[in-house]
Amino acid sequence: MKKQSVYFRLVNKLSLRTIIVIPVFLILLLGSSLIYYQIETFFIKYSAKVIETNQVRIKNHVYDHLDDYFEIPVMVNKYNAILVKNKQLNLQDEQLLGRILLNEVKSNTAIDYAYFANSDGGIVSSGLYQGTNRISYTKDMKAGEFRIYEADEDGNILNYIKSVEFDSRKKPWYIEANQDGIPYWTGVYSGAQEPILGMSTSYPVISPSGVKIGVFGTDILLDQLSKFLKTIEITKNSVVCLVDEKGLIVASSTSEKPFKDINGSQVRLAAVESKNTVIREGYNRVITKYNHYFNEEIKDRIKVRGEDYYYCFSKYSYNDKINWNLMISIPRDDLIGDIEMLFLKFSIIFFAVVILILIAYTIISRWIMQPIESLNSKVNQMTNDNWGIQIETNRRDELGQLTRSFNSMSIKLRDYILMLNNKQEELEEINTTLEELVHERTKELELLTITDSLTNIYNKRYLMEKLNQNIEKAKRYNETFSIVIFDIDHFKKVNDTYGHLEGDVTLREVSNFLASTVRDVDVLGRYGGEEFMIIMTSTKLDEAYIAADRARDKLSKLIIGSKNIKITISGGVAEYRTDDSLLDIIKRADNNLYIAKKSGRNKIIK
Ligand code: GH3
Ligand code: MG
Ligand code: MG
Repeated sequence: MKKQSVYFRLVNKLSLRTIIVIPVFLILLLGSSLIYYQIETFFIKYSAKVIETNQVRIKNHVYDHLDDYFEIPVMVNKYNAILVKNKQLNLQDEQLLGRILLNEVKSNTAIDYAYFANSDGGIVSSGLYQGTNRISYTKDMKAGEFRIYEADEDGNILNYIKSVEFDSRKKPWYIEANQDGIPYWTGVYSGAQEPILGMSTSYPVISPSGVKIGVFGTDILLDQLSKFLKTIEITKNSVVCLVDEKGLIVASSTSEKPFKDINGSQVRLAAVESKNTVIREGYNRVITKYNHYFNEEIKDRIKVRGEDYYYCFSKYSYNDKINWNLMISIPRDDLIGDIEMLFLKFSIIFFAVVILILIAYTIISRWIMQPIESLNSKVNQMTNDNWGIQIETNRRDELGQLTRSFNSMSIKLRDYILMLNNKQEELEEINTTLEELVHERTKELELLTITDSLTNIYNKRYLMEKLNQNIEKAKRYNETFSIVIFDIDHFKKVNDTYGHLEGDVTLREVSNFLASTVRDVDVLGRYGGEEFMIIMTSTKLDEAYIAADRARDKLSKLIIGSKNIKITISGGVAEYRTDDSLLDIIKRADNNLYIAKKSGRNKIIK
């Protein structure tokens, strides 16, 4: 037998059902793992891309907003300056100017104060203070007593509040704007009365005659920026933070105020001091790792509280006057969380499909296996001599055909087996008959070999055989027996007279006659041409003589054949003597026969 590989030996041990199910199972497992791996890799790449896109989107959005935010107060100042230059705005009437400025404040949410300061140190200022309207101005538009009033919505003075000493010419916003002739921006400052961040911008005013006559200024509140940052649509745990050039927080999307308390007074908060870990850790890291957060855009992934945050630090600049830093931090899990939910749904659907496929497959494999198993058991039964077994099926598919083929084969087999059985019985019968026939033929043949064809009595061969047996028997049992040899007298004459055929008839008649005279135990045979011998069992010489002589006598009176032939016989008798050989006893009988012939024939000599 060919040596099988280990693989095939293993496979041969498995059932068909297992062989059908296992590869499908493995393919499904491998396929699903591959798909799972591919999807996960895709999600990781995808999430990084999505985060980056979001960061760019948020950055642009914030930058656009800041541009607008800073543009408005500058525009208001410029607009006022143009009005003055065109003689459309009267700078002498403090109350009217105050009303106009208040109106400007009220129509721009970003602006909380608008003011005009002249070269004499005088000032008119309108704005909002803790929800109330304020109009203030120095007396005669000169440096000195600065009177603060509460006003109504239309800018009508309601009541006097207090006075402070004021000289606008000493303020940097006045000095800088007056010198440069371009918009001036202060740094971020915190409010004098309440912890709120603000900035101011100022713009020089030229008279219609071309002389610098003062400065228009506007204050903006930066808490608006925090509110704006909170409204940006970002993921749940994302943080956006604006920091000024000193590293102090300007605004953030968190609820943290950009202040800290030191001995009861509110001091601005640095980004690295923030209670918000994402802001604190982010700036700490970016400062230690990159030594700056300002010069160019920095993108990094930082672990905060064990979670991956994608950071983007970028520089925001407004006309090179305001230089801030924008931090956008998006935790990977925020994004992955959504994706993972999607992934979970997908997985559930996927595994449900896999299970359904397996169930369907199991049913199909049973559908295939059931008739095969049934066939198998029926074939087994068939080998136990249950021929003609049938399997019920109403299936139309290949297995149904196989089953029907099996059924018709089974019937045919049964018929063949029955036919074979019948044939075998017939054969057995024929065989028995043949055997009997052979037996008979053998017997006949045997008889033929010991029978004389002419006379139908035993031949000489048989006589000799019997004679030997008698000698043996006599020797062993100390028994005796006798023999007689007859010879027809002058038989030659019969032949000569009546012909050879008549001679044959005579020989047959004599044989028949002698046969009728002998006992069952005696043996009569043709000894020669017209010579006969009788072996007389357990017979002494005298008894043999009497019997032989009686036969001679009877024969002499017999008329033979159609020619009425009469014959006589002569005979010699001899009895067995101890140690006789075959020839000894024959010789004695022959001798006696010879004597009978010599002494006149038709007689028996003993
Ligand atoms: P004897 O009295 O001395 O015996 O004389 P016999 O004529 O009988 O003896 P013989 O021996 O001279 O002759 C025997 C004859 O028997 C010769 C032979 O032709 C004849 N004979 C032998 N066998 C047969 C046979 O089968 N058929 C016929 N028809 N004749 C036979
Ligand atoms: Mg003779
Ligand atoms: Mg003779």
